[in-house]
Amino acid sequence: MKNTKGIKGRLMNEDKSQRIMELLQILAEGCRKHPAYRARRAATQRCQECVVVWNARLELNEMNQKHEGFNT
Ligand SMILES: [Zn+2]
Repeated sequence: MKNTKGIKGRLMNEDKSQRIMELLQILAEGCRKHPAYRARRAATQRCQECVVVWNARLELNEMNQKHEGFNT
């Protein structure tokens, strides 16, 4: 039981880091049509790629908020 819990916890963490890496990658690449767009503000809904970048930013922010206190 103890082992199962430990493994599950580790997998969840790996999942999360994996997702964070993906999101960082999306943010780093940005929108190919609008290289100047750095997701500092909401994307215009007209460009799907900008929206993807913006959503990645939002998801990262959300994760950071949830993980506040993680290092304490
Ligand atoms: Zn765009």
